[in-house]
Amino acid sequence: MHKKNGQIEIPLAGLSEGSHEFDFTCNASFFNDPHLVEAGFTRDIEVRVVAEKREHEVILEIETSTVAVLSCDICLLPVSKPLAGSFRIYYTFGELPEEDQEGSEEYRILDRSALAIDITEDVRELLFLSRPMKVTCTNNAECRLPYGEKEDEGVQPEESNSWLDSLEKLKNKYR
Ligand SMILES: [Zn+2]
Repeated sequence: MHKKNGQIEIPLAGLSEGSHEFDFTCNASFFNDPHLVEAGFTRDIEVRVVAEKREHEVILEIETSTVAVLSCDICLLPVSKPLAGSFRIYYTFGELPEEDQEGSEEYRILDRSALAIDITEDVRELLFLSRPMKVTCTNNAECRLPYGEKEDEGVQPEESNSWLDSLEKLKNKYR
């Protein structure tokens, strides 16, 4: 664990049995992972954790939400997409269950003397998992065009009718 980074921790000391809600706001730099920024996580990231403490276990329901700035797989234009992820972790004070470990759930052993649960790494992984495999524009009529060798010149989405014109020509060419 890289303790020098920021941490998202659920305090256990003094936590009574029952359900408790924790909200965090952070950003990619908090995790000190340049891949997060490369993956489009450049804006604020909201993390909500519901911790349910019981006699023999603590259940964490972790939810992330953010708006990632991705790029369209087809036309390479930037696409902002709201992303949400959720993940449940069972921390047991006893033995791990031998069965029923499936889905987006995970079982871990927790020491009874633990003062807090550090979920920083889980949140980081959840962010990557919440990223869609495919990204396409939703409101760009030109998006279906093959972009081809123009890619090298860089995409300037905000500007220029000439760019659209050349796309228009391309479109005709491929009809
Ligand atoms: Zn597109």
